[in-house]
Amino acid sequence: MSVSIPNIRIGQGFDVHSWSEDPSRPLVLGGVEFAESAGLVGHSDADAIAHAVIDAMLGAAGAGDIGGLFPDTDPPFAGANSIELLRAAAQKLKALGWMLINADCTVVLDAPKIAPHRATMEHHLSEAAGGPVTLKGKRTEGVSSLGEGVQCFASALLIGPSSPSESESL
Ligand code: MG
Repeated sequence: MSVSIPNIRIGQGFDVHSWSEDPSRPLVLGGVEFAESAGLVGHSDADAIAHAVIDAMLGAAGAGDIGGLFPDTDPPFAGANSIELLRAAAQKLKALGWMLINADCTVVLDAPKIAPHRATMEHHLSEAAGGPVTLKGKRTEGVSSLGEGVQCFASALLIGPSSPSESESL
């Protein structure tokens, strides 16, 4: 008996980047540059939020991870704009028949404050991901190890090109 189940898949993403001592590194989170803040260590622009969303989306589609898609050993990705990496990942998934239903993220840091920039970040992330992306900020609450960098957790829900039962019978 064939049962039609929508091919809806959940994916999880996590990313962390440590604070950089290089004063020339800008802090970029959710596509927003914070000129007054220290930056993060990374091969690209180290946008941990965009990276976590990419991994959540790739995970939902069973399409690998950010390191496989954009190797950090590749010179072209040095200093890359991670919102553009998110856009490229979303386009790859779209070509495979996947569509983002929504993604939700939690970024952990004490400063700068996220709330004043949340709408802008959500706009950048949503526009690149091709679906609604929401964001929440959490403080480190004095847990010193959490203060050594910026962490971001993301979940993404995608709908695929066919039901699992149909794809299994192909
Ligand atoms: Mg990263």
